[in-house]
Amino acid sequence: SAEVIYGNVLAEELRSEMKQEVQELSKQNVYPKLVVVIIGEDPASMSYVKGKQKASAKVGMDSDLIELPESTSQDELLALIEKLNGDDTVHGILVQLPVPDHIDDQAVIEAIDPKKDVDGFHPSNVGKMLTGQDTFYPCTPYGILVMLKRANIELEGAHVVIVGRSNLVGKPVGQLLLNENATVTHCHSRTKDLRSHTKKADILIVAAGKADLLSGEDVKEGAVVIDVGVNRVDGKLTGDVEFDSAKEVASYITPVPKGVGPMTITMLLHNTIKAAKQIHNVQ
Ligand code: NAD
Repeated sequence: SAEVIYGNVLAEELRSEMKQEVQELSKQNVYPKLVVVIIGEDPASMSYVKGKQKASAKVGMDSDLIELPESTSQDELLALIEKLNGDDTVHGILVQLPVPDHIDDQAVIEAIDPKKDVDGFHPSNVGKMLTGQDTFYPCTPYGILVMLKRANIELEGAHVVIVGRSNLVGKPVGQLLLNENATVTHCHSRTKDLRSHTKKADILIVAAGKADLLSGEDVKEGAVVIDVGVNRVDGKLTGDVEFDSAKEVASYITPVPKGVGPMTITMLLHNTIKAAKQIHNVQ
């Protein structure tokens, strides 16, 4: 039966390292600061941003939450981003997605100064990632990469199969692993015979947002299973992979909750500290 990779435990370790780094930076008068903007009152988004605030505070980092009404216009939002871009005390700007329908999310993403784009969604940062340059990597894919590395899982030459091709998770996680010399297959909702692909994976990353889409029968003996899905079923959080059956076949598996989720926020903190160091030109 598989070894469980607990993202929350690793996240805790990384955050205590970050707390020390934030203290060191304060001696050089650098105080990393994240500003999170949320439009409207979607309960899931609200709980994500609260999590981000709490985690920032725990590592001793400044963070502001700007809550805007659902009726906020795109121009008002872009003006706010412009102001934050020009504010030297702000290092990370994150607009919680999704934004209301009357706002073009791509316009919002592109308005954020790439130097403060701690979500790693700006096309300039996406392009840098694609071409193998150092930049802000999107937090969930980056968290997955760090988890795999910390568990000493061989990436070079590994066949990674990803279920999902969103700009948020599926595409960028494939790119990061390709940069590590893995062989990458992307599956998605139009893929034929999904199991024939997942069965070939040395590392199977599932980010479809469908509860129990896959089970142990879809997993190759000894594979590493990373379950990104977050689904609410009967009031309980569950992943995209049936944990109990997959655990019997896999060599490593991440649970939901306590898996990828805590790593996502941790990489956001990492990116904000990185932004602050780059903006103030300190090590
Ligand atoms: P999305 O809806 O944008 O993308 C889902 C992808 O899965 C699509 O590319 C689609 O083609 C594919 N897909 C859907 N049904 C499929 C099926 N039956 N077979 C094969 N492919 C299928 O979602 P997303 O933003 O990429 O998020 C995916 C999941 O990960 C969601 O459950 C989300 O809540 C979760 N998520 C978790 C974290 C975290 O930190 N833990 C972060 C982001 C997203």
